[in-house]
Amino acid sequence: MENLLIPSSIESMPRRQFLRSTALLTAAAWAPEVFAQQSGDYWSRPRALWLKRKETGEEVRTVYWADGQLVVDAYVQCCTLLRDVRAGSVVQMNPTLLDILCGVYGWFAQAGMERPIVVTSGYRTNATNNMTEGAARNSMHLVGRAADILVPDVPTDYLARLGMYLRGGGVGYYATKHFVHVDSGRLRTWAG
Ligand SMILES: [Zn+2]
Repeated sequence: MENLLIPSSIESMPRRQFLRSTALLTAAAWAPEVFAQQSGDYWSRPRALWLKRKETGEEVRTVYWADGQLVVDAYVQCCTLLRDVRAGSVVQMNPTLLDILCGVYGWFAQAGMERPIVVTSGYRTNATNNMTEGAARNSMHLVGRAADILVPDVPTDYLARLGMYLRGGGVGYYATKHFVHVDSGRLRTWAG
């Protein structure tokens, strides 16, 4: 999966009006290479997230980071949403994972596409991971560092490219399952 910078994906954009290239260029001008360079002031502002859990429909829309630190109540809300739904287990999610999700959320919000990130999997217990088709035995989901996500009306390949552009960690592109795995582990990409 070479050459996956966002601008190269414009040709493959969907027909949706709001994804026209002007909006993308606006977003590109704003978007920091978040974890590589931390440019711009985006990351010095309060960090917002809007998450929705696919299985349960619950939503969290909150600011999880402000004044240089985690906002504890909001962080706990995010961790709860990202829990192992099957097992009912909540752990402390890796804050960098939240930053990756914030980068995704902010990218679309900045382009006038305010919408939740839909989470199909967050933290997983060993038991849940073992029951998950195709899951790695040492999955980053087991340590609260991964989420499988989709964004309404956004093609999965676009979302994968955005994840790679943000350079926050691992990105797995699951075309047929219609989600993208993001984690705060080392930089790597794969297609599932
Ligand atoms: Zn995953």
